[in-house]
Amino acid sequence: MSSVSLSLEQAHSLAMKCLQANGCDTANARAAADRMIQAEGDLCPSHGLFRLPWYTAAVKSGRANGKAKPRVEQLAPAVIRVDGDNGFAPLGQEVAHQPLVDCAHKNGIAALAFVNMFHIAAMWPEVERLAMEGLCAFAFTASYPYVAPAGGIKPVYGTNPMGFAWPRKNAPTLVFDQASAAMARGELQIAARDGHSVPETAGIGPDGEPTTDPNVVLQGAQLGFGGYKGASLAMMVELLAGAMIGEFLSIESAEDDGGKGGPPKGGELIIALDPAKFGDPEGFLAHGEKLFEAILQQEGTRLPGARRFINRQKTPETGIEIPQSLHQTILALMN
Ligand code: NDP
Repeated sequence: MSSVSLSLEQAHSLAMKCLQANGCDTANARAAADRMIQAEGDLCPSHGLFRLPWYTAAVKSGRANGKAKPRVEQLAPAVIRVDGDNGFAPLGQEVAHQPLVDCAHKNGIAALAFVNMFHIAAMWPEVERLAMEGLCAFAFTASYPYVAPAGGIKPVYGTNPMGFAWPRKNAPTLVFDQASAAMARGELQIAARDGHSVPETAGIGPDGEPTTDPNVVLQGAQLGFGGYKGASLAMMVELLAGAMIGEFLSIESAEDDGGKGGPPKGGELIIALDPAKFGDPEGFLAHGEKLFEAILQQEGTRLPGARRFINRQKTPETGIEIPQSLHQTILALMN
């Protein structure tokens, strides 16, 4: 597959121009481009420029608001709500960040109910940023019905990711961010695009039979990781980031889209805790490090997030590669 080399600055400029050419104002285009290039810089291409056609189609069709002005509201002493004004999540997350940090430091715990927005990104940026403020954080979002419930064959749940971050001193933040499906949707789409097979655990065809063909899984249903355990986590995410905050379940998000194939509209729940307020303010950081040391003493281990942090050191120098076909698609979207 032929590819195009770009510096991170070139990639950012490409994303900005493409979003602005399709109806985003500067603030929304910049926030969405920051997110995509952050993912590219960490070598997570499934949430990088690969998502740009989806973002632009949603703005161009009028479904997403490219000029969104997210609004913050305090619902309870430890509960903040952000209305994303029908825009993309990155700007709303920026607007909500400081109020959530302040609320968590004040109360020891704070939650953010983020509604009325399109989340088509990875979760680690929001939880990592909170951990850099000394907080421990969780984030959850639903998407479209891609994943069958345990024992079923029809999709009900989104691939419903969860992000978790833990603060560290003089070391990269501990972050894990994973779909509750055996495979993220973007990874499945990339496997289909590039003609690769997928593990049999990734999904089933429309007949309910296991398959390694990503195109057949795309027509059938994905599966939760670890069978019913991942499916239960996906269900939990639907309840937290959908039912509890008055936002779409994945099945409702698909109804809202009406088969147009745009990005999912929905909600996100972020929970931030201040570990210094949970009884061991002087000791919790060192205590966490004891666990990490015990893990890393074993050959073959690494901490979640470490791959991205290593990549992040390199890509400002090396730049990134994107498929030529994607580059051409993006250029065409700008005309
Ligand atoms: P992966 O399976 O690639 O990785 C999951 C987590 O496990 C990462 O934090 C990763 O760290 C860590 N990890 C991987 N290998 C190891 C290892 N050997 N030892 C320790 N930790 C390890 O992620 P997914 O495919 O499940 O998800 C990919 C992305 O897709 C996520 O960012 C997720 O948020 C996103 N997504 C977004 C959705 C949405 O609707 N917005 C829906 C579904 C997924 P590292 O990063 O360092 O490799």
